Amino acid sequence: MIPFAKLERYEGNESLFELVLMSVVSTLVGEPLHIHAEGLRGTGKTTIMRAARGILPNITRIKGCIYNCDPERPHCPQHKNMTAPELAELGTEEIPMPFLEISHSAKVGTVAGSIDLSRLTDSTQPEARLLPGLIPQAHRGILFIDEINRLADTSPEITDILLDVMGNKPGHIQIEEAGLPVVEIPVSVSVWAASNPDEDPGPLEEIRRQLSDRFDMVCYMGRPDSVDILAQMLKENSHAYKNKRYKDSHEEDDPGNEVYRKNIVKWAGLYEQADLPDFLRNFIARLYIKHNLESIRAIEAMQQGAVLHSIIRGHDKVLINDVTDMIPLVLKHRVDGDTLIKMINDVDSRSAKDGILTFRGRKNKKSKKEDEPDYFPQNARPLKDMSRGELINTEKTLTPSDY
Ligand SMILES: [Zn+2]
Repeated sequence: MIPFAKLERYEGNESLFELVLMSVVSTLVGEPLHIHAEGLRGTGKTTIMRAARGILPNITRIKGCIYNCDPERPHCPQHKNMTAPELAELGTEEIPMPFLEISHSAKVGTVAGSIDLSRLTDSTQPEARLLPGLIPQAHRGILFIDEINRLADTSPEITDILLDVMGNKPGHIQIEEAGLPVVEIPVSVSVWAASNPDEDPGPLEEIRRQLSDRFDMVCYMGRPDSVDILAQMLKENSHAYKNKRYKDSHEEDDPGNEVYRKNIVKWAGLYEQADLPDFLRNFIARLYIKHNLESIRAIEAMQQGAVLHSIIRGHDKVLINDVTDMIPLVLKHRVDGDTLIKMINDVDSRSAKDGILTFRGRKNKKSKKEDEPDYFPQNARPLKDMSRGELINTEKTLTPSDY
């Protein structure tokens, strides 16, 4: 597998690289960010997501706890009631942030949990205990599901479990086994999914709308359209090239991945301190009202995403572009195409030209047309206090062709 740092980047897949980084940073501070990559076969969506395993930072857990208990906040049935000295005695260990995958043929027991058969059949000391499934074991990490549309279509039970896990941040999971008490534990995982909406059974939002809405962001992957990039991709996929790579290197030790890992830890520290300025929060609230958005999750994701985006882009504060860049990602699966394009054009023209020109004269303007949204209210900071980047969209404006 090609290391994350060396994967080919082009305009159609750039935003998935960013989303993956944003989600890992957010996961590290304990706030999941659920992302879904949609696109045709061959756009490399699963490759990018699986390669992210190579850039995951370490987490610290209570030694040997398969539920990945945070030593500061133990949550598993075994550790949650222990005293501080008891926990200290157990010690801690560092493990790579978990990255587990659910296949679309998975069973409920594998995903949620089941009776630990090895303990039950232990001849010296038989004991009925739960063996946590993939989801509880992915606590504080990533859960990856390829072909999520097929899973939602064929496995309503697992879909229900995912709805609980993704319902709140953190979510929860119930482990039920006949003869054992039901165990409910909190679980904080970022769910990453991929699907091809053009293949059977169709787009996730048409199969299980509720599950689709649980994804904070959806990224539609475009196909590469440059000859150079396609040729490079062909080369990397050729048998000869793969053989050479295999012989030459231990790709897990790729120095580029190590740079990402260090940055992720640094960004997580920044994210814990960062917040969205009030005027941008107002801006998001106005978008919600004006465009009748319905999903509160959508605007929560816009807020979370804008702050994360500003950090991984190295902005010293959150800019209006950090918010507008989130619009297609947050709304693609939640509103129809016409509304989305209308909204993007609206925001675009406002912040690019109209926004600045009318903002200057706003003070003397007593009457405003009923339908004209007040994106830059009077209580916002004066124009002179804003940086240039907050006022002017860069050339990377949102165009309908991005979706
Ligand atoms: Zn534990």
